[in-house]
Order: sequence, then structure tokens, then C-alpha cells
Amino acid sequence: MRYALDASFFFSGLVLDGELVTPPSVTEELADLRSKGRLEALLASGLSVVPPSAENLRRVTQAAGETGDAPRLSAADADLLALSLDLGATVVTDDYAVQNVALRLGLGVRGILQRKAQPRRWKYRCPGCNRRYQAAGTCPDCGSALKRTLK
Ligand SMILES: [Zn+2]
Repeated sequence: MRYALDASFFFSGLVLDGELVTPPSVTEELADLRSKGRLEALLASGLSVVPPSAENLRRVTQAAGETGDAPRLSAADADLLALSLDLGATVVTDDYAVQNVALRLGLGVRGILQRKAQPRRWKYRCPGCNRRYQAAGTCPDCGSALKRTLK
């Protein structure tokens, strides 16, 4: 099993059995001593730091545009996803936007604190009366067009 690690992995105590990879931009996000120490230890035991291909970065950008997650995706997040495509790696992250784009790209996802990633269930809110709905459309109560929300 091959895992691509996001920055929060290095702050966690999660232990993964397999081949570990991460892009350089993720390692650059590790500023505190504890996560840097964990990075050093993992590098010594075989973690590979690999930049992603430009081709798969473009696929990630496109997928993030399709799911609406592009504004929430950092450059390091995009690198992580593209590298996972390059290497057929499972993405290790608790970030909902990264998980959502990974699922769109057909990648495996492993949570850090949570066990299993689910596609995000969009909820809709009426801007007129503030009622919330599961599906898009028009508010049956006041007739306003529903807006998508995260919660
Ligand atoms: Zn309404």
C-alpha cells in the first residue's frame, strides 16, 4: 500500500504500514519542532519527497473546479492530489476539500482522526427564510432559490 501524506499527518500520531510519499510543498508547511522531528524520522525510515507531474496538477485543478473545492485547495493540497495520481497512492488527509477532490479523481482516501471519507453531502439554505434543505431547488415555503452551504 502506498500513502501520500498531507501536513496534518506529521502532527498526528498515526502509524501507517506501507510506502510513504509526500510532495516538497507539504514538507515546507512543517514549521514546528515536533512535526519536523517526525518528518526527519520518517525520511530516515524511507519516506520519499517527490514533486508531482504538471499533467496531473492540471487534472487536479480541473476536478477541483468541477466539485467547487478550488477556493479551499492550497497549492500543497493540489500537489498532494497530483502526486497521488502519479503514484497511485491513497491520500491521507482529514481536509474535506482534499477528500472531496480525491474522490472525484477516483483516488483512495484515508482519514487521520476519522476512519473513512465520505463524499460531501451538500445542504441547501434558503436565503429568504433561512430554512435548510437536502436538495437544490426553490424554497417551498417562500419561493427563494436555495443556496448551497457546507453545513
Ligand atoms: Zn424560504
